[in-house]
Amino acid sequence: MSKRLASVSAAALLFALSACSAPEQAPVESAGVEEAGAPAELDAHALHFETLTLDTHVDIGPDYGTPSLDPDEHTHAQVDLPKMVEGGLDAAFFIVYVGQGETTPEGYEAARAAAEEKYAGISRMLAAYPDRIALATTADEVEEIAASGRLVALIGMENAYPLGESVEDVPMWAERGVRYASITHFGNNQFGGSSNPNTDAGDPEEDPGLSDLGRELVASLNDHGIVVDVSHVGKTTMLEAIELSRAPVMASHSGARGVYDNARNLDDEQLRAIRDNGGVAQMVAFRRYIGEMPQAVTDGQRALAVELNLHTPEGRAAATPDIIQAYQDGMAALRAEHGDVDIAILADHIDHAVEVAGIEHVGIASDFDGGGGVGGWEDASETPAVTAELVARGYTPEEIEMLWSGNVLRVLRAAEAAAVTD
Ligand SMILES: [Zn+2]
Repeated sequence: MSKRLASVSAAALLFALSACSAPEQAPVESAGVEEAGAPAELDAHALHFETLTLDTHVDIGPDYGTPSLDPDEHTHAQVDLPKMVEGGLDAAFFIVYVGQGETTPEGYEAARAAAEEKYAGISRMLAAYPDRIALATTADEVEEIAASGRLVALIGMENAYPLGESVEDVPMWAERGVRYASITHFGNNQFGGSSNPNTDAGDPEEDPGLSDLGRELVASLNDHGIVVDVSHVGKTTMLEAIELSRAPVMASHSGARGVYDNARNLDDEQLRAIRDNGGVAQMVAFRRYIGEMPQAVTDGQRALAVELNLHTPEGRAAATPDIIQAYQDGMAALRAEHGDVDIAILADHIDHAVEVAGIEHVGIASDFDGGGGVGGWEDASETPAVTAELVARGYTPEEIEMLWSGNVLRVLRAAEAAAVTD
């Protein structure tokens, strides 16, 4: 990669050291993007920029849309507007994420405040750059905005925890543009069980399934045209939500357990349940979920971060471009020596999910700025490499369009049709 000033994914790489969180300009020169194995008649790079690409999971930091993180500049984030343009990433769900805390009045109050902070960041971006990026609240709007030459923002909610002990805020979030909502994150909550229960906090090992309030939530999301997101939930909760939902569901960012055994991934029965429901499973580019990180890379990354004082939020905020470049160079050297979870492994998950659930029920998510990114797809500017890998594996342009956006748009339209209008 070129040495663009601070166009780095250091934030996300460093994220991997802690727990998971949580427009249209000319594309840049494309040398090296096309895979050697691609059929000669298909230009993967050209195909990529002709395809409507939609990433269903992009997190944002608390300073998003402030002077310290202006999304229209090359930033330390994996996703900003220049990187989306450079990488031909047309649309993204930006995420109102709240980590799981206590299910107490104080916990809910703090969660609401955290959700407001995330929503404010997305709103700042949309208000500051209306000619560069616009909010889509329907599948038609996604296509219209993209056709107008602007980038497309959608909003997803990760963890329904901030709704508190009722579903009365669902219409307010729908009005603001939220178009999918996950039931849980890490740790069970008032609505259901997580794929990763917090047993230290008293969660049972076994997924208890949807609570009564969780059943109300699924109905309310359906009523308001919000897709039920089944990433992060336990299997029982997921299967119950699918059974109950009047509209197709989405797993906004998960891998395939048939490829790599991680609790965050979907086993074949879950993939078939999503298929039978008409939904879509978005394979996620999250290193630790989808493959075995070489221990030498994990250890070396930690040592490098400490050496460069990038292991604390303060250190990262103060990092100069030279420091960030040193970090990138160090990581590249570690990977060259030891290997890494890369774009081929992400494609293995896509292949498997397609084999089990069918091409109509699979898509792609980065989880950028929430811990996502794999070797070869480290930030939004490298998105053409994903299409190149799919071309190399023999996917047709029509199939690639389905994986990149067609299937998600179908699910959004079905959710819109299932909504209750008054
Ligand atoms: Zn997540």
